[in-house]
Amino acid sequence: MMSPFFLPPQEKVLEEVLAGCRRCDERGVVDCMAHQKVGLQEEHFVPYCSVAAQCDSCSGALLLDCPHCDGGPDSMALEARKALVARWLTKESAPEVLLEKKFLRLETDAFHLLFDVEKVKNEKKMKDPHHFAHFLMRRLEGTAEIFRDHFQAKPHHLISPISIWWFSDAKEKRKVMEDVLMISSGGDIKKYTRNPVYCADATESAIQSSGPMLEAATVHNAVHILLFDMFRESWIGEKKAGWFDAGASHWYEEYFCGRVSNYCIAEANTMVDWKNGVWRSALRKWLAREDSPVLPALVNQHTGQLMPRDHALSWSLFDWVVHNHPKVIQPFLMAYKEHQPTRDIFKKHLSMTVRQVEESWRKWVQKSYPTKDAKVKRRKFPKAKL
Ligand SMILES: [Zn+2]
Ligand SMILES: [Zn+2]
Ligand SMILES: [Zn+2]
Ligand SMILES: [Zn+2]
Repeated sequence: MMSPFFLPPQEKVLEEVLAGCRRCDERGVVDCMAHQKVGLQEEHFVPYCSVAAQCDSCSGALLLDCPHCDGGPDSMALEARKALVARWLTKESAPEVLLEKKFLRLETDAFHLLFDVEKVKNEKKMKDPHHFAHFLMRRLEGTAEIFRDHFQAKPHHLISPISIWWFSDAKEKRKVMEDVLMISSGGDIKKYTRNPVYCADATESAIQSSGPMLEAATVHNAVHILLFDMFRESWIGEKKAGWFDAGASHWYEEYFCGRVSNYCIAEANTMVDWKNGVWRSALRKWLAREDSPVLPALVNQHTGQLMPRDHALSWSLFDWVVHNHPKVIQPFLMAYKEHQPTRDIFKKHLSMTVRQVEESWRKWVQKSYPTKDAKVKRRKFPKAKL
């Protein structure tokens, strides 16, 4: 074998080293190609994913050392990222510690998702739980983005990250509820505390591991918790602001899913709905027939007191605020957090009595809602601008 010293000078290679490596754009790293199924873009969107973190090639860095050069400015970043991901993966979530097992987990600054669903139903492309979990994260972040826009909030206004836990084993879910959340309940639960949690069973009768139902419940309940967690921790659902608490949660659910399938209380979800959760034309018709005022009673209830039709009315009143008085959304939330009565809030921020709000809202509904609803459509992936 000839010694390399006897080879003719490799002009091309020398040139490449001097100019930096063209294969990696002088970064010293290249993309890891083992993430095709969900897509590198989706993996980059979520800083921590337990599937990506266990990639045999990149350990979740999503990058590899460039095989064609001795490294570049991004080589150090790659090592730092690897260490960060490894540290995250060893830090188990509370359910993992309790149940002594690993779950599929995705994490952004605002949302910590635990997703234990073996196969997602009623989905063509996203049956795979890892793929669907990334979709849920897009939805959650999309929801938070529009929410911040409505409420004039910045990411740092969220007091602590929101955990969403989907289990498929009822026993495991119950154990987590009792031993981690210290709540016993048959249905799903929202824990309104520092590091708030939504915990639910994906196999329960209203969900049945169905993708669209998982999406709707995730968005809906995340909004309840965003309302609690944004600016300062306070749950308005028990401060006679049920219409605002439920109305907002329905609004985002409807915005993304095209219809409403959650009625705030787990028991209510399986029992009743109003007009199959498709509300515009039905409300328009119902309000045109109903002469007596509805708001005086509606705007003084807790979330748990609302009846199915009240949910639709609450959604519509929030819809009216979004379209006609967007600047009061944040002041409304802050005032309700201080337990102020609705009539004072309307007076102060809208210069209107409850009756005047009702009049204006009813007029707007008749003018803006269609006589027949369009076909229910799920909003396109990942999200659309308002
Ligand atoms: Zn290179
Ligand atoms: Zn992933
Ligand atoms: Zn990889
Ligand atoms: Zn709700």
